Amino acid sequence: MTFESPDVVPAYLDYNATAPARPEALEAAFAAMRTVGNASSTHRSGRDAADRVDLARRQVAALLNCSPGEIVFTSGATEANNLALRAAFSDGGRLVTSAVEHPAVLETSKALTVDEPGSLVVLPVDTDGLVDLVAFHEALARGAVAVVSLMAANNETGVLTDLAPIVEAAHDAGVLVHSDATQLVGRLPIDLAETDVDLLSLSAHKFGGPQGVGALFVRRGAALPYRPLLLGGGQERGWRAGTLNVAGIAGAGAAAEAARLALADEAKRVTALRDALEEALVEQISDCRINGSVARRLPGVTSITFRRAPADAVLASMPDVAASEGSACSSGAPSPSHVLLAMGRSREEADSTIRFSLGYATTVRDVERAVSSTVRAVRQVRAALTAAI
Ligand code: PMP
Repeated sequence: MTFESPDVVPAYLDYNATAPARPEALEAAFAAMRTVGNASSTHRSGRDAADRVDLARRQVAALLNCSPGEIVFTSGATEANNLALRAAFSDGGRLVTSAVEHPAVLETSKALTVDEPGSLVVLPVDTDGLVDLVAFHEALARGAVAVVSLMAANNETGVLTDLAPIVEAAHDAGVLVHSDATQLVGRLPIDLAETDVDLLSLSAHKFGGPQGVGALFVRRGAALPYRPLLLGGGQERGWRAGTLNVAGIAGAGAAAEAARLALADEAKRVTALRDALEEALVEQISDCRINGSVARRLPGVTSITFRRAPADAVLASMPDVAASEGSACSSGAPSPSHVLLAMGRSREEADSTIRFSLGYATTVRDVERAVSSTVRAVRQVRAALTAAI
């Protein structure tokens, strides 16, 4: 049997929502599903399952340059974020995060501080989407911070956070640091021997692994109040009870390995494709604006506001392109992107913004198709709106 990436719509440019599964991930997940065995069982079948999990743990650890014993497999980044914040936050302390975090961090932060809303500090960002470092240092100086949680890369704009100085200042103040690196892992290198975060979340489906599998990195020796979300059989060293998802984890490991080996080349190639897409759109469509720091972004992401062209109408007019209005997690909901609003955009601008996200399997043809369809769709929607006035 041969394994190829799944068929996708003609131009799939929604890698930040989810990436197509890598052939290596399909093969590893399928091989694991064809065997029987609970990774906790001591007989041969159980040991076979445990071996597949061990291999995946080493593969994920290699992508992050950490120790395999520092990886806790979860059901994805939502669970990893919940687990990290619950583990690191202690009552009476303060929790510092930013206005552009994923809801999995923002909602968990609100829930943990619900009895004392003043203990939640949400840092603003500037018009480029970069976290206000003055506000960060002020929050640290006020003391009693239990944990800082700042994302490594934003899912809507791709804007990167320079974690090193943040971690250094937090650790000088004796404060734990968590980073939601879901959009960064597998797209840009990260070296946890250098970047000294205590906790880091990732999700396999963003780099070509299966959906519903992720991991939390927990630095060995980090002084954490230990509060797992799931209690039970003590799997994952007590951090996450429940029979391990062997097939999903095996797929995640294989995807991590494939991403690690190809990362440098992919990042270069994807950056060039993203830049070509962006240049063509800005050249051919009037009155548009790129959101987020152009100098500090993920390789494959561009968030573009096409003024006077509501994104839902534009996307509906180009069914041959898969792109996103804001983030997939909130699409369908009528509220505008909290990320773009935090960056100072108006509601109208936020509602007229499309996120294109490219990845390892994106081709020049995908980009050409996306350009011609978007140009046509934006012109069509603007013309219809003008005619309606
Ligand atoms: N954090 C970020 C930054 C994300 O982009 C996502 C996925 N949209 C998540 C967390 C949640 O990941 P998962 O789908 O694995 O729960």
